[in-house]
Amino acid sequence: MPSRKFADGEVVMGRWPGSVLYYEVQVTSYDDVAHLYIVKYKDGTELALKESDIRSQSFFKHRKSQSSSSSPSRRSSSRSRSRSPGRPAKGKRRSASQSREHKDDKKKTVQETSLALPVLVLFKPSENNTKRYNGEPESTEKNDTSCIILEQKLKPDLEIKRVLEQYSLRSRKDDKKKEEICSEKKTSVTVKPVEKLPTKTKELEFGGRIGTFMMIFLLPATVIYLLLMCKQEDPSLLNIPPLPPLESLWEGRVFGVFLLWFFLQAMFYLLPIGKVVEGLPLSNGRKLQYRINGFYAFILTTAAIGVLLYFQLELHYLYDHFMQFAVSATAFSLALSIYLYIRSLKAPEEELAPGGNSGYFIYDFFTGHELNPRIGSFDLKYFCELRPGLIGWVVINLAMLLAEMKIHNLSVPSLSMILVNSFQLLYVVDALWNEEAILTTMDITHDGFGFMLAFGDLVWVPFVYSLQAFYLVGHPTTITWPVAAAITVLNCIGYYIFRSANSQKNNFRRNPADPKLADLKFIPTATGKGLLVTGWWGFVRHPNYLGDIIMALAWSLPCGFNHILPYFYVIYFICLLVHREARDEHHCKQKYGLAWERYCQRVPYRIFPYIY
Ligand code: NDP
Repeated sequence: MPSRKFADGEVVMGRWPGSVLYYEVQVTSYDDVAHLYIVKYKDGTELALKESDIRSQSFFKHRKSQSSSSSPSRRSSSRSRSRSPGRPAKGKRRSASQSREHKDDKKKTVQETSLALPVLVLFKPSENNTKRYNGEPESTEKNDTSCIILEQKLKPDLEIKRVLEQYSLRSRKDDKKKEEICSEKKTSVTVKPVEKLPTKTKELEFGGRIGTFMMIFLLPATVIYLLLMCKQEDPSLLNIPPLPPLESLWEGRVFGVFLLWFFLQAMFYLLPIGKVVEGLPLSNGRKLQYRINGFYAFILTTAAIGVLLYFQLELHYLYDHFMQFAVSATAFSLALSIYLYIRSLKAPEEELAPGGNSGYFIYDFFTGHELNPRIGSFDLKYFCELRPGLIGWVVINLAMLLAEMKIHNLSVPSLSMILVNSFQLLYVVDALWNEEAILTTMDITHDGFGFMLAFGDLVWVPFVYSLQAFYLVGHPTTITWPVAAAITVLNCIGYYIFRSANSQKNNFRRNPADPKLADLKFIPTATGKGLLVTGWWGFVRHPNYLGDIIMALAWSLPCGFNHILPYFYVIYFICLLVHREARDEHHCKQKYGLAWERYCQRVPYRIFPYIY
């Protein structure tokens, strides 16, 4: 195998995939396995390019001097092969003035283009390579994994147009005419998002190796601590609960019930009901298929619980053994994470998670080494994200409601308990109803499946998010109807922001041409994806987080103000989302470069308008 031609740090000219345009780029690294150069464009975009798509700068200097001597007629003859949609149909005669205007336009376009971009060189065809660079779409580009834009067939004129439009805002409503011109782009040109092939994770998150090592112990300890606190009569922060005997934390039967629950949900997931959809393209351009039947699983679970209650099964068992259930779920998620890590060692490089491929065992074990671990068509991460933990959370809440009625001898649950149960039920049902939306979230597209998500999905969500309901069983709180109404309004506001923001982004990502989104403006980016700058995503940079946090507050308020414990969720959630937002910003900055900076200038607040 010949050695690499370009060194790290070298400034060279990189071909923009699918086009004949060369930009100044800097080589940042080299992927020995895929034999690809990772290069950074001036706007911050990073791409993986093969060696044949890279030229030294001197190559162009040489070419420039050659092309300046070439006759205008030769230049126009090579351009005439491009079938720009703006050009008259073949055979149609152009007047001399039209032709002159056309030439002037072209010249202007090229001039503007070179003004709009730091360095842009049109690779002018020479006799030897006219065939290859004759302005026709390059058939070899299709399925060319070296440049990860698949099926891209941009013609030079269209490409220039796209580049010119790159940093200006467009409203699709005002742009009807342009859309017609670009209809060819819509029908025959499929611009897929540019993704990088997974390379080694260089920037470690969550405190790196030490941070992730500590979190593996700290997270389960926090769950146990919170549950012990909640069981106390006085759950104030300073009243540290005594540690229970270790043997009381484990019961085989409880673990058996947990396993039964997990496999029942797995069975529901495997049922051939519900539509099958494609996820976003992976780094190799492949799209995985996902069955959308979470809502059906929820209905079936509700029916199963109804039958059990009808036959006098005591859900109280869940309340009585709550801690043991949490410990069982922890043990299971740990075993699952070990399995996931072991199997990830055999996974091909391209299937590893962009964020969990550091080469450090602890870090990759925690963040998740493999992006989409599957057993056949059974997607372990996707299944765990929304099924056993999320549906389990609703069942736990119901068990708490029944426990409250039983312990306090109530004929109906307290108003506080009803609010907490209803709000959280709405949240879970919404997530399951909009299950498809999860396919565009960071958890699915970026994070691997390791301890962080396994523990988060199977332990943290069901056992920590149900803390308010658990708290209310031991600490009855009375609220008046007007207070309940005010809290309900708050929850509805939060839900409205959360849902509409998530739907807006999800619909835009799935179909940017959706007529429902015609009023929205967006900044085009070099990857082909746009960044919304009006609507919810023009209000703050993470409107969905804002809505989620408002709801989190509404879930805690029914517990009154006697203790801070029921507010743990909202406090933790703000920290989680602020950290998550920072992670996402970092990824977006890498993905979109200058376009992201423009977005940040235009939408200065991250989550809370005028505050943060
Ligand atoms: P988001 O749904 O917020 O997605 C972030 C991505 O959206 C970015 O990476 C980018 O991806 C895209 N994006 C960012 N800005 C724009 C824009 N202006 N226009 C278009 N696309 C944009 O990420 P999360 O996965 O963090 O959150 C999903 C939901 O889950 C949220 O509602 C959140 O509150 C909730 N959540 C709940 C948790 C819980 O425990 N209850 C935990 C975590 C999240 P790209 O450009 O690549 O498409």
